[in-house]
Amino acid sequence: MGTKPLIVPFNDLARNWIATSNEVHDVCLRVLESGSYIHGPEHAEFEREFAHFLGIKHAMGVASGTDALEIALRVVGCESGSKIISVANAGGYTSTAAQAIGCEVIYCDVDPDSLVATDLTIAALLSNEIRAIVVTHLYGNIAPVDRIRSLCVPFGIAVIEDCAQAMGGMLNGKSVGTFGDIAAFSFYPTKNLGAAGDGGMVATNDDFFADATRELRQYGWSDKYKISRLGGMNSRLDELQAAILRVGLGKVASLNSQRRDVITQYQNALSETDITVSTSSSMGSAAHLAILRIPSAIGRDNIQSFLQGKGIGTAIHYPTIDCDQEAFPKNAIPPSLLESRIAQTEILSIPCFPEMTPTEVLTVIDALLEALE
Ligand SMILES: *Cc1c(COP(=O)(O)O)cnc(C)c1O
Repeated sequence: MGTKPLIVPFNDLARNWIATSNEVHDVCLRVLESGSYIHGPEHAEFEREFAHFLGIKHAMGVASGTDALEIALRVVGCESGSKIISVANAGGYTSTAAQAIGCEVIYCDVDPDSLVATDLTIAALLSNEIRAIVVTHLYGNIAPVDRIRSLCVPFGIAVIEDCAQAMGGMLNGKSVGTFGDIAAFSFYPTKNLGAAGDGGMVATNDDFFADATRELRQYGWSDKYKISRLGGMNSRLDELQAAILRVGLGKVASLNSQRRDVITQYQNALSETDITVSTSSSMGSAAHLAILRIPSAIGRDNIQSFLQGKGIGTAIHYPTIDCDQEAFPKNAIPPSLLESRIAQTEILSIPCFPEMTPTEVLTVIDALLEALE
């Protein structure tokens, strides 16, 4: 690939609030000096504040978003051989969690505009044999999880929301993560609420699911050294990350609004072109990534190399859909997933992070318009 240094990086975590805030440095020192590093007061407060932020009863810290998905699947009753529904275009995290349990994933297609599952894309797959559905709010676009849930209830299908790319997103005035039976969040550093390392959260209004999550994240313990539940693991959010994330929680709303502003500028600049922006900039969107849709007549790869030549960082989220991943077992009936497959060849992620300067946004826009000349 190119040797030029990037003029506009795809992301730059060294500029973010963790790297630049004295408050973060202070809370880290406080934790280091406290001698309490796992499940201490910072973690307890963060769980409480996170639940309050969402407007949900319980939030349980875990070690990653993938662990949060695996625990959520187990908690709603998935075991080896259980069937679950999920999209295939969301990076493989749900499939990885499902494989750890031995679940079979039935893949559903996505809406061509929002690239998330909708009531329409899942309807034909619903049956009493399905144990759970994972609804992914991909790219910060909010899936109609309320309508999906209404369809699933009569079949006894549990609804899990994957909010790893949608922290702070809203639907009908309520936070995402509060619509399903249980929700998973990730604090991977690039997410809308990122830590200085790995982290995740499980959230639910159900007391039984909350207790089960607290047991599963810590060896299946109901009490210290008392193993009451099979399927337990060591998946804890540490005290340093919790303290940092408490600072970040107060910034999510404004950081998300900065992300939406970047998306709005891309949308306005490209409105008269054949490139569309698949990320929503509406109020509820978490605008996690700026996803362009580049028709094959223009060529996604052409645009990507052009931007690369201009020193602009890009990425593809994601290059391979889950059902085509080498390691995953093949379904008895191969899914067609027409829209997921077309999107896979047309999507391109361009820089979108809260600390982008106005000049950087304009540089990306100018390069795109020049590429289309
Ligand atoms: C990042 C991500 C995950 C996994 O989170 P980790 O903390 O990296 O394990 C799950 N689902 C989606 C949609 C993600 O983007």
